[in-house]
Amino acid sequence: MDATIGIPPAVNEETEPFWTAAQQGRLVVEGCTACGAESFPPRGICRSCRSRETAPTEITDRGVVYSLTVNHQRWLPDLEVPYAMVLVEFPGHPGVRVAGRLRGCDPEEASIGMAVDIGFEPGPGGCAIPSFVAVPAGGGS
Ligand SMILES: [Zn+2]
Repeated sequence: MDATIGIPPAVNEETEPFWTAAQQGRLVVEGCTACGAESFPPRGICRSCRSRETAPTEITDRGVVYSLTVNHQRWLPDLEVPYAMVLVEFPGHPGVRVAGRLRGCDPEEASIGMAVDIGFEPGPGGCAIPSFVAVPAGGGS
C-alpha cells in the first residue's frame, strides 16, 4: 500500500462517515461543532480546539492542486502508469487537504494551482477512493 494514496481504506469510527459518503460520490470531512474547524483525514478530535464534538461536513467546492507527484508505481492491476497523485486543498475549507489520483489530463500537464473537480474511483478493498478530475484551462469556474 503506497502511503501517497493518503487515507488508508480502513473503516473505523472516525472514518466510517467518509467511506460511506465516498461510495455515494460525496466528499465528507470532519467538521468541529464547537469551533467550526474542518479536518481531513477524520480523527474524531478537532485539530484546532481538541473538541470531540465533530460532525461530517460535505465539501462540494472545486479544489486546487496544492502539490503533486508523478507516480510510476502500478499499485492496482489495471492502473495506467505513469499517473499524477495530487494533494488538493479547497478555498474556504482551511485544514482540509485530500490526496488522490488525477484524471482527465496527462501527468506532465498537471501543475500546482490547477483546478480539479472532486471525484472517486474504485480502490483497494472495494472502497471508493478520492480521484480528482482536471478542469480544462478556461473551462469555467
Ligand atoms: Zn474545534
